[in-house]
Amino acid sequence: MHTITLIQGDGIGPEVTASAKQVIDALKLDIAWDVVNAGLDVYNETGELVPDSVYQSIEKNKVVLKGPITTPIGEGFRSINVMLRKKYDLYCNLRPALSIQGIETRYSDIDIILFRENTEGLYVGVEHVISDDEIHAEKIITRKGSERIIRAAFEYAEKHGRKKVTLVHKANILKLTDGMFLNIGKDISTEYPNILFEAIIIDNMCMQLVMNPNQFDVVVTMNLYGDILSDLCAGLIGGLGVIPGANIGETIAVFEAVHGSAPTIAGKNLANPTAILLSAAMLLDHIGEVKSGEKLRNAITSVLKSGVKTTDLGGDATTTEFTKAVIEALG
Ligand code: ATP
Repeated sequence: MHTITLIQGDGIGPEVTASAKQVIDALKLDIAWDVVNAGLDVYNETGELVPDSVYQSIEKNKVVLKGPITTPIGEGFRSINVMLRKKYDLYCNLRPALSIQGIETRYSDIDIILFRENTEGLYVGVEHVISDDEIHAEKIITRKGSERIIRAAFEYAEKHGRKKVTLVHKANILKLTDGMFLNIGKDISTEYPNILFEAIIIDNMCMQLVMNPNQFDVVVTMNLYGDILSDLCAGLIGGLGVIPGANIGETIAVFEAVHGSAPTIAGKNLANPTAILLSAAMLLDHIGEVKSGEKLRNAITSVLKSGVKTTDLGGDATTTEFTKAVIEALG
């Protein structure tokens, strides 16, 4: 029996996590849920952004399915998403961008696995006010942090028979921080002679991704570049509604969609639950329910191919209609 912590989040979070819970329940696995919540809704009710019960549940169950949590901009709040990644050292942010049959975009057969370093870089949030007119932000890159994410990318490539790892950097400008990340990548690549290694500057990477995304296989990069590139990759395969993600550490793993809380469509039954459903499929793989993960992916594809789509993909299905169709497709 697996117990999974479910954090509903806010914005479209409660709608898409409810969808994921229903779909996983329909798979009839030995899974129990520990439903908790954090974020703006909880803060408005209790004055606490993350109640202790959330930490206790994560530490006990170690596997989490999480809805998006809003970070109010410029009000002195730190991002809960970033805080959880840091607190539980979820250093590996895995964001696969895979073309899905049934979703029409300009591109086909995209299969890019993005590894984003998730705990350091500019996301450490160390900013200094030098004067009223000058503020500095620190970018922190460590050998340990770089080695483990780059190694994770190569290990993944080897395990899954992938051919190439592309490291993305800006070492021509950030010679020390990005320079170290790049050099570590070059060193580690020599341990994997069967996998092609290339390094590419972030600006060129953006252009290449738009011109010819099919040339990329496994991609590894630092925190902020990874965040931006994963939204770009989402755009290649149909948008934020369809790209899943996992934040993985040594002991705890948090599965969540790449998208945020999309407040403009929240509460309207319009959100596309595909991204969280695909994140849930990654969770099933993680807990050893690989066949069920595959079954879920196939069900999602067959629903999309049949033309049942939410409005972000040009359809008219509601969140609940799409969810119902996926459950039916599970058989
Ligand atoms: P954050 O800063 O929290 O990552 P963001 O600024 O990237 O958030 P999102 O909340 O991810 O913004 O959403 C951006 C837009 O993408 C939304 O306004 C919405 O139109 C669309 N979108 C995101 N997720 C979904 C979804 N699951 N279904 C439908 N549309 C979505």
